[in-house]
Amino acid sequence: MTSAHVLGYPRIGANRELKRAVEAYWRGEVDREALEATGRELRKRHWQAQRDAGLDYVTVGDFAFYDQVLNVTALLGAVPSRFGATDEIARGEVDLDTQFRMARGRAPSGTPAAACEMTKYFDTNYHYLVPELQEGQRFHLASSRLFDEVAEAREAGHPVKVALTGPLTWLWLGKGGEAEFDRLSLLEAVLPVYGEILTRLAAQGVEWVQLDEPALVQDLPVAWKQAFESAYNALRSVPVKLMVATYFGGLGDNLQLAVGLPVDGLHIDAVRAPDQLTPVIDNLPGYKVLSVGAIDGRNVWRADLAALHERLASARMRLGERLWLAPSCSLLHVPVDLAAESELDEELKSWLAFARQKLDETVTLARLLGNRGNDEDRGRVAAATAALDVRRASPRLHRAAVAERLASLSDAELSRDNPFPVRARDQRRALDLPLFPTTTIGSFPQTGEIRAARRAYRSGELGREAYEAQMRAAIADAVQRQEALGLDMLVHGEAERNDMVEYFGEQLDGFVFTRHGWVQSYGSRCVKPPIIVGDVVRPEAMTVRWSRYAQSLTKRPMKGMLTGPVTMLQWSFVRDDQPREVTCRQIALALRDEVADLQAAGIPAIQIDEPALREGLPLRQAEWQGYLDWAVACFRLTAAVARDATQIHTHMCYSEFNDIIAAIAALDADVITIETSRSNMELLDAFQDFAYPNEIGPGVYDIHSPNVPDVAWMVQLMEKAAERIPVERLWVNPDCGLKTRGWSEVEPALANMVEAARELRQRHA
Ligand code: GLN
Ligand code: ZN
Repeated sequence: MTSAHVLGYPRIGANRELKRAVEAYWRGEVDREALEATGRELRKRHWQAQRDAGLDYVTVGDFAFYDQVLNVTALLGAVPSRFGATDEIARGEVDLDTQFRMARGRAPSGTPAAACEMTKYFDTNYHYLVPELQEGQRFHLASSRLFDEVAEAREAGHPVKVALTGPLTWLWLGKGGEAEFDRLSLLEAVLPVYGEILTRLAAQGVEWVQLDEPALVQDLPVAWKQAFESAYNALRSVPVKLMVATYFGGLGDNLQLAVGLPVDGLHIDAVRAPDQLTPVIDNLPGYKVLSVGAIDGRNVWRADLAALHERLASARMRLGERLWLAPSCSLLHVPVDLAAESELDEELKSWLAFARQKLDETVTLARLLGNRGNDEDRGRVAAATAALDVRRASPRLHRAAVAERLASLSDAELSRDNPFPVRARDQRRALDLPLFPTTTIGSFPQTGEIRAARRAYRSGELGREAYEAQMRAAIADAVQRQEALGLDMLVHGEAERNDMVEYFGEQLDGFVFTRHGWVQSYGSRCVKPPIIVGDVVRPEAMTVRWSRYAQSLTKRPMKGMLTGPVTMLQWSFVRDDQPREVTCRQIALALRDEVADLQAAGIPAIQIDEPALREGLPLRQAEWQGYLDWAVACFRLTAAVARDATQIHTHMCYSEFNDIIAAIAALDADVITIETSRSNMELLDAFQDFAYPNEIGPGVYDIHSPNVPDVAWMVQLMEKAAERIPVERLWVNPDCGLKTRGWSEVEPALANMVEAARELRQRHA
């Protein structure tokens, strides 16, 4: 037989039960016991789904009330001292409220403290809590939660495989804080606790433990490679079988290392890196199990089971029962169950597979490879083949006009008419802006009224006319407030937009939206990424009437507001039948037409947001340039239709710029606004060695905080910026959009910001 398993299953529940329970607990509406009961119920249901599908093991350890990396941090007792007396934690459990305080700064019990940093897990949109590491730190087993969950699964009669973040990847994901030190120096202290955990799991009757080590698909320093060897050598005596799980890419130069680790099994990603299958098998020691991640854990398309069966037949021949089958990575990254999508058309549904469906795919493929395929399996293969045939030939996929237009593009379409200095002169004349012009990033508070109106509109209670009238009122209100504040370049405030990707996706052909396709983003937060099914076409202008209306209300320049092509791509499930780059170009073309229409409607400045540009970077540095080349080209394709006098802005909200500063300059936006206030303008260090040529607005107002920044603080930040960048090229603006804030904070903060700009003008006049 061929064993089938998953690296992890979504924990949020088909109806986001976990989100609801956790948030109710935070609000004090349900008690701890009720929350734990929901957790138990969800685990029970998810294990049962795995058994019903026919998996050989259920996976325990993928459940978390907040984050699975935080679970391991708690298991290791690695709680920063600000969350309570370390002695206390040393004696007892890291309780749930301590975990919640680490994640969000506060919980129903315990003293509030600054939350731990959160960041994206590898190249996914899932955020984990960054382990805070300290030189000389000590670790000890500090949570029994995992063992309780194992006991639960055992009681239910399931064969258990435990999944845990491995010791090297846990350290790799950690950060040293202010005092940088070698994180690897902690390995020796971490390993005995892992040893203890594994021994205890063995005593509970667990046969296999999967240790997630996706760090192995990245560029590792030599010391880390050596540490992998020594760490797994140290763990080889534990009385349980270990499977090292790698995913999100190929092992590359770590292949020999990964294959040779003294453990009983290795999991590889054969979706992102199908070519590594043969070399891995060629080098696999004869005692080792190879779990092949053949079903895509990062996307929503139905698998081509017949083709996979054929492709994996020789692996099966060579490995026999040492071949296992699984999705490429944890199913955490896809929606839960396609069956819930009653509003998607049947044809489209037949092309898709969510987590629950991927269980069936995995089992069928495993049974076929193990020569145990039954009628149900043969039926599934036939159905998949038929659906894929329909999909490949479907007129929904291809629009001849799109392909023709892309093919006919020349380099000229990627460049503005004139270089920045010439454009800047025209723009200064057209826009008549003062030194240190002030602006905002686009959105203004999404008030309860705005959200209520949208809900009523969506449910049909509110007609389109009435809804749009309310949105116009919100825009007029935002314009009036900006004029009163004395801002120089205005925005319409994005009242009419639910989400910066969804809003555009809903208006573009080629995108589809699910009703329940939620994926966990962090903690209780879920996102519902659109699915790009076919060639992208813009049937009509998307934002022009709103921007035109806003501009009609004021003499000051109004900035049009678009989400850029890379961000649209990055935050969607992307079609798998053509390169990402091609899909991105199609989106860029659609947006280019929007830029042209906004310009024709008299909008003098257009912002193209690309907050996701950086997160699209491949996990291997060798692939960065290739990505950046096409990502930059797509942005330029969108923007370059602007005439010299039309000012193109872009916005990005993160502070790790140094790596990609050249690419950012290559976007050739006239103005870029970026996040800097929290890092105290540290970001501008990147501008020390690299002379950024265009205008820049380093954010001076941290919109993630309810605090109102004072004038002196903002002046001081801008003075820092002025040490690096000529004042003629500086803008004054917040870090990001203001939609999550209330007007009561935004107005005083922006009043101070405008005052700061006035003071700066006087100083630099
Ligand atoms: N224009 C968007 C806003 O202001 C930008 C959002 C973002 O950068 N994530 O909300
Ligand atoms: Zn932002």
